[in-house]
Amino acid sequence: MIIFKKARDLAQHLKTLKLKGKTLGFVPTMGALHEGHLSLIQISKAHSDISVVSIFVNPTQFNDKEDFDKYPITTETDLELLERQAVEILFLPSVEEIYPTGYQANNYELGALENVLEGSFRPGHFQGVCQVLDRLLSITQPDLMVMGQKDYQQIMVVKKMIELTDKPVQLIIGPTLRDQSGLAKSSRNTRLTPEQKTQAKALFQSLNYVRDHLKVGVDLEKLTRQAANQLLANGFLRFDYFSVCRQGDLTPIREYQPGLSLIILVAAYIGNVRLIDNILVS
Ligand code: AMP
Repeated sequence: MIIFKKARDLAQHLKTLKLKGKTLGFVPTMGALHEGHLSLIQISKAHSDISVVSIFVNPTQFNDKEDFDKYPITTETDLELLERQAVEILFLPSVEEIYPTGYQANNYELGALENVLEGSFRPGHFQGVCQVLDRLLSITQPDLMVMGQKDYQQIMVVKKMIELTDKPVQLIIGPTLRDQSGLAKSSRNTRLTPEQKTQAKALFQSLNYVRDHLKVGVDLEKLTRQAANQLLANGFLRFDYFSVCRQGDLTPIREYQPGLSLIILVAAYIGNVRLIDNILVS
């Protein structure tokens, strides 16, 4: 694996590979790698000749300073995992490399997507996500990029940014990897105590509870409240949202009708760790 810390060196190397006809897959991450990330790397490897992984904890997407300060950094282990996956290229830039002096942040017209669900609880988050991915895609210019369904709203926002900036990249969505209890793998899980980790499986259970009770005429507000209460009874401190939305544009639905492509999304706190998860209903 070749590790690049400088954007210019990486861009030059990738240009040479492209001139040789190699296709590039890109998997952006913030490190503290787990099997979820590795599954995205496998998808990238299956669809391209060379896979580039980036590890960069992007300060501009954190609206909560404590969350940023406490974000786990496990570079040594990450390098071992990536070597074992036979990843060809790692991009490990500094903040200055991504946002050099004189960098002018774009304002992306994300529309309603920016202010619902995650956006309403994390102001500025999605602009930060777009900034970093715009930069990373400009540097790497991959044929495809793989991202996880776990951050469903992020995928929709990134799709929009790709359209707005006219980037010729294909976005592939990888399914959410879970541990045996159903808890979605997440870098933030490392901040949970063993007891909290056991309790955290209630998140996936509560999503399934809502899905299993969807039927014509159901009171959706009551149903999601019941599910949220289950979380509170199982060690969660509070929740930001619990919502049943259309998959296409994340508008909340008022009435359930069979045949709609829906997504159930939740964000909740266990201790001071904020976890998100979702499941699709087709
Ligand atoms: P992060 O390092 O948290 O920024 O995540 C990097 C990528 O991994 C994003 O596209 C996430 O959606 C994806 N990801 C995070 N958790 C999982 C998971 N449990 N399964 C699959 N992909 C995931």
